[in-house]
This record gives sequence, structure tokens and C-alpha cells, in this order.
Amino acid sequence: MPDIIQLLPESVANQIAAGEVVQRPASVVKELLENSIDAGATHIKLMVKDAGKTLIHISDNGTGMSETDARMSFERHATSKIKKTEDLFHIVTKGFRGEALASIAAVAQVEMRTRQLGAQLGTLLVNDGSKVKTHEACNCPEGTNILVKNLFFNVPARRYFLKSDGIEFRHIVDEFERVALTHPDIEFTFTNNGSEVFNLPKSNLRQRIVHTFGVKYNEKLVPVDESTAIVNVSGFIGKPDAAKKTRGEQFFFANNRYIRNSYLHHAVMSAFEQLLPQGHFPMYFIYLTIDPSQIDINIHPTKTEIKFQDERSIYAILHASVKRALGKFSISPSIDFDQEISIPVIPLPANAEVHPPAISINHSFNPFGTKVEREKVMEGWFDRKSAQTEGWKELMKVTRNEEVQVAAPEVETIPMPELELEVEHGQPVFQLHRAYIATQVRSGLLLIDQQRAHKRILYEKYFSQYETGNRNSQQLLFPETITLGASDFSLMKELVHEIRILGFDVEEFGGTSFQIIGVPSDAPHQNAAKLFEDFLEQFKNDSAMLKFSPRERLAWAIASSTCIKHGQVLSAKEMRDLVDRLFGCLMPYYAESGKPTLFIFGLEQIEEQLG
Ligand code: ADP
Ligand code: MG
Repeated sequence: MPDIIQLLPESVANQIAAGEVVQRPASVVKELLENSIDAGATHIKLMVKDAGKTLIHISDNGTGMSETDARMSFERHATSKIKKTEDLFHIVTKGFRGEALASIAAVAQVEMRTRQLGAQLGTLLVNDGSKVKTHEACNCPEGTNILVKNLFFNVPARRYFLKSDGIEFRHIVDEFERVALTHPDIEFTFTNNGSEVFNLPKSNLRQRIVHTFGVKYNEKLVPVDESTAIVNVSGFIGKPDAAKKTRGEQFFFANNRYIRNSYLHHAVMSAFEQLLPQGHFPMYFIYLTIDPSQIDINIHPTKTEIKFQDERSIYAILHASVKRALGKFSISPSIDFDQEISIPVIPLPANAEVHPPAISINHSFNPFGTKVEREKVMEGWFDRKSAQTEGWKELMKVTRNEEVQVAAPEVETIPMPELELEVEHGQPVFQLHRAYIATQVRSGLLLIDQQRAHKRILYEKYFSQYETGNRNSQQLLFPETITLGASDFSLMKELVHEIRILGFDVEEFGGTSFQIIGVPSDAPHQNAAKLFEDFLEQFKNDSAMLKFSPRERLAWAIASSTCIKHGQVLSAKEMRDLVDRLFGCLMPYYAESGKPTLFIFGLEQIEEQLG
């Protein structure tokens, strides 16, 4: 038998490798953007035609390449970024496998012009399906300019499996956004078929998010910023009322690379629990910075999943960080004050050399306590001055935290009722459109939604009855009887104990009937049967509340069915009373589902509007 094993021709090997690296136009965009960043560019232009199928054109003002390097860059495993195995553990560049350009050139026609900073001449390299067609000196701007034409021209099957332009374009936008969000200090422009898609000036992270997603995002962002010995968490989360029904902007980055991680996603989602209506997704832009040796390096070029060695601790810290950020901005869960805030027990890192962080577990931690109390509790937990932390931060050259702090006008731009709200006594109050209460506060004009505010007040009152057992019921002169459908009847039987604590005195009355003997003392008692039916309907139908506990839902239901509604005229005394009681609440600023109860029209805003 003759020997049959032989080495694959270079071009075939490249095409096989390309199958991994280049799946669609978006993969080319990602690789080229990353190369430009690695080359230190401060301005990167991306132009695509037909969702990148016909043309992807990227130009940068980075270092450029020498004539030889330009030729070398298209060889497989040709990289300037690592030289030896140990380098793998200190990678600070985006690429390091030296495969991207070789792979792209294997499946497209590539034209590259590149000139090193200060060099007289540049180099033109034309590559056609791995074959170098041209390699000559040329006049071109400093930096690198790459055109990738007719992707998969020589692999019809791959071309055939590309999706519609709309879908492929969306993939490009996704990749572009992930890169743009990790490099706010780089200016990016992006055009598709000649029209501008993004134009992002150099900025800080907050502005980058706003430039990328729209100016409305500015007021929706709440900063997250925690340093621990295990991980640093920074970035922004969206306020609960900005949550959307579609799973929109949710980004995790680990050491400034986009990652997907459903476990960590859960950590964020559960911190939002009870603040969001069912089926709503909060946005988040979360940047984790972690000792690279604590991450399983994923050398697969296109995968975004990575594994953390100490995932459970990161989960716990992330969860607490988001909760704390929500709490700081007075929008933390309002209805679970009977439960401990879950700061889970942190297991020690598996690697013995990693010192356990200074963590104290405080099960009575109360995000609604005074700010000082909260800070005190959390300070111990977030050990800000860990020498260990500093060491690897230096290694990773992480500057993000500084950037976020520079962007600090948060305090001005996000209304922080806690700081700004000082209701001045004796100020006139008036009602706007029978729906809002207006009054002066130190920082401007306070507008309260009378319905949401009263609902919040009543909710807290009723819910507290479950804790204190103090129920207030008034007996009816003439008990009323209600007959329920079979399913309502069985629901009633299930909940009757909880309903009684709210102040309803109800007794079974034969068949599927109940007799109402007393109602909560605050509730109108003229028509007890109707009140009760409204309450039950509210309980059954408020789908936004479905994931809350029955007690919470019952308290919201009675609050919703008995609260002051829009359209109701209020006297000055009633309004003052409502304002006072609202600010006596544990969580005055938000109604259920994270909707605000009040809004401050700041003096600055007023001045700005009036020019
Ligand atoms: P990797 O990025 O993994 O090193 P690539 O195939 O993406 O591999 O690039 C190969 C080499 O080409 C890089 O290491 C770098 O030296 C050089 N290079 C690629 N793109 C650029 C660019 N835009 N500017 C300067 N050098 C570049
Ligand atoms: Mg690369």
C-alpha cells in the first residue's frame, strides 16, 4: 500500500480555518475592527455595501504596517501580538491567533493599503482567495485601509447560506455596537450603502451609550460601580421603567470583551426582580474586570461564552452591585421589605492563592435604611482597597472606572429624590388636571401622580398588616352576600386567611357564597360587595404583578381598588396629607412595576427651557 497522508495545500487549510473564523460578513467586520483597535487607531471608519456581502471597507489611523509585515499579515499564524506560550496569559490585545486576515483572504478578494506612521511610502497588497496578486509600493494615508470584496466568492455554498441583507446587516450592527461600547475613546463612523448608520465621537462611556442608542438613554441610565478583590463591576443599568418587552440592550463585557453568560444574566435579572412587569427586560451595560488567570481563556475565535473559575462569587457580587445601584437611586425593590436582601454566602475562590475578599454577610441589610447605614454595610462587603485588585488592574490597564467617574454628572442628570427632595412646609400645593399634585421643593417643581402615590401609601399600609398583625376593620351595619363562580370561590377559600388580615371580615355562606361582615376601615363601606368584587378582579387581572407573592399582590389589589384615582378633586389639606404620607413611605418614589410616583422639574431644566 502506498502512503496516503499528505499535507493540505495552504489555500485549502486556510479555507478550512476560515470556516471557523469567518461565518458571515459580521465576523469580518469584527476581526477588522479589532485589528484597527490593536493597532492603536483613534479613528476608525467602517463602510459596508449590501450588508457586507459585496464590500466591507475599514480604514484606520493606527500604526500601519511595513512592507514585509503587510505581506506577512496574511499568512496563517502570523501575528505580532504573541511570541511565546506565556504571552497567552497576559493578552491585552483583541487578536492573538494570527488567523483573521489569512482566513478572510481565503474566502474573499482583499485589497489592503497600509503606511506606517512617518513612512514615505505605503504598501498595496491585493489578495484573491489566498493568492497574492499584487504587492507593491503605493501612495496612501498613514494607517491601514482594507477592502474585503465579494465575500465567499469562491465558496458558493457559504454564500448561499447567508441570510437576507436585513439580517446580515443586523449582525454587523451587533458586532459594531459591542466594539464601540468597549472603546468610547475611539471615534467611529459607520455607513451602509452610503448612508450613515453611526457617527460616534470620542467620549466617555455614558456618552458613548447615548450616542449609540439615542439621546433618550441619558436619563435612563444608573451607574454601577463596585470594586472587590475578586472582580470589579462597572457600567450602567437601565432604570426599571425603561425596561422593554423585547430583550434589547443587554451587554456584558469581561476585561473589555463582549461576552454572553446566562448565569450572570440571571444575577442581574434577579436584582431587578419585583421592579419589572412580567415579560419586561431591563437594559444593562456591565463591565467586569477580573484577573485574567481567573478566566478560562477561550481561544476559540468566535465564541463569546467564557468560563469564570469562581462564577458563584461573581454572581453574588454582581447581583449585590446591581441591587446596590438600584438602591442608591431609590429604585430598589420596594415590595420585598419583609424578606432579607439576598446577599448570598460567598464560597472561597477555588485557587488557594487568591485571598478571600473581606466580605461580611449581613442578613438584615436593608436597602431602605438610611443612606449612611447602607453605605456602612456595603463598605465592608466591597473591599475597595485590595492590593490584589490593584495588581491585576494595572496588568489589564483598566481605565474604565476612571472614565465613568469623569462622566459623573450623573448626580445632576438623574433626578435623585433622596438628595434633592426636601418638601418645603407651608408651600402652596395645587392640583393639575385633577391628576397631579404640584408644589415647590428646594430644587424646583415637584409633581406627584395622585393615583400612584396613594396606591403606594395604601400598599405599604396594607402590607405592613401582614407583619404587625394590626388589622383595621370596620363592621358593616348590614352584612352583604356575594356569590362567586366556582373558580373564584376556590381562589377565595385559598386566600381567605390573607384576605382577613387586610381587614375584610368574610365567612362562607353556603354554596359558593361568602358573607361580608366587615371591610378595611380605610375603604369605602357603602357598597361592600362591589368593593370586594373590584378587589378580587384587580387581584386576578393585574398580570404585571403575577410574579409577586400572594400577599404582595393582595396588598396591591386592595390598594389599587381603593386608592384615589385620576379625576378626583382634592382639597389642599388632602393634598398636603397625601404628600406627607407619601414621604413617610419606605419607598415613596416608585409605584409597582417600577413606575415613578413623582417627578421633579428642576430649576436648571426650567431655566434651560426658557433659554
Ligand atoms: P491577530 O490579530 O490575531 O494578530 P490577524 O490576522 O488579525 O491576527 O492580523 C495579523 C497581524 O497583522 C496582526 O498581528 C498585526 O500585526 C497586523 N495587522 C492586522 N491589521 C492591522 C491594522 N489595521 N493595522 C496595523 N497592523 C495590522
Ligand atoms: Mg486580528
